Amino acid sequence: MQPNRTFIVDFLLKLLQTPSPTGNTEAGISLIEQTCAQIGLETYRTVKGALVAKLPHESADKAAITVASHVDTLGGMVKEIKGNGRLALTQLGGYLAASVVGEYCQVETAAGKIITGTVLLNKQSVHIHSGDEINKLGDSMENVEVRLDARTFSYRETNALGIAVGDFVSWDTRTQYTETGYIKSRHLDNKAGVAAAVGAAEMMLRHGVVAKQPSYLFFSNYEEVGHGAAAGIPSDTEELLVIDMAPIGAGQASDEFGVSICVKDNSGPYDLAMRRRLVALAKAARLPYNLDVYVRYGSDGSAALYAGANMRVGLIGPGVDASHAYERTHLESVLNSTLLTAAYLTESR
Ligand SMILES: [Zn+2]
Repeated sequence: MQPNRTFIVDFLLKLLQTPSPTGNTEAGISLIEQTCAQIGLETYRTVKGALVAKLPHESADKAAITVASHVDTLGGMVKEIKGNGRLALTQLGGYLAASVVGEYCQVETAAGKIITGTVLLNKQSVHIHSGDEINKLGDSMENVEVRLDARTFSYRETNALGIAVGDFVSWDTRTQYTETGYIKSRHLDNKAGVAAAVGAAEMMLRHGVVAKQPSYLFFSNYEEVGHGAAAGIPSDTEELLVIDMAPIGAGQASDEFGVSICVKDNSGPYDLAMRRRLVALAKAARLPYNLDVYVRYGSDGSAALYAGANMRVGLIGPGVDASHAYERTHLESVLNSTLLTAAYLTESR
């Protein structure tokens, strides 16, 4: 079985360019829903708005497994319309203000109108403020504002555009797929993981390969705020494989080419038996893999466990450089994650 590279790349690039900040994920969820329908997967939505797809399977008497990946991303929300007509933001998810300063963004009004803008420090121009003054603003979203691409210089004028407190703000992802196979974009965390999950299902369905036991794909919509998979995982699930990005950097074993198998993050060690099986599957399929410890990290697996899920939980995923900033991975890492996911779903237990 080989993954369909074109299908995976096209889906991933489209998904990356579909805003889905945590709390406002409808566009992302519905793109996954349509793509699942296209490849022949039935889906349903949970009460909380996550998406579940059921894979064709052999035996109903075995316990179910679920593969989870989250489509919600970092973003912002209008906290205040300032007296100068610009917007103060509150953060959605955890990131440093410096990682979004200078970024183009879009505000979605209650009426669904999109108004573009730019995220800037509230003292930004070096022709007006000294470098010291600008540097002192430090790394706080309190010193950040959105300059709208509209003629507004007051609260009243911005309000008249239809903008209000609570409107969602999403970043320009600046998505690029390079000739060298790299994918550069915001929100590869975790849209690259979603692409691996959907890519694995597409590959199995195209080859007429069915899962050994009841198997679901779960697309979570609240991971970045910590409670995505806390509810909604199909109740017959005994094992949960989470696909989420592996952070790359100093001291990390992960890279942008192999599939990472996380052994431990802030929520403690992942299930040992699953880890060993995942390693065996990667070896058998000759996939480059890295065992890694993530030091400032939690996943939907952690959310499920903390919520009291009585299941074994494992975590794999593509390596992502500069996570929660302007991220990058290589297609190979997404494909290796796809292949390990498919190997897991078709494993005889
Ligand atoms: Zn993530």
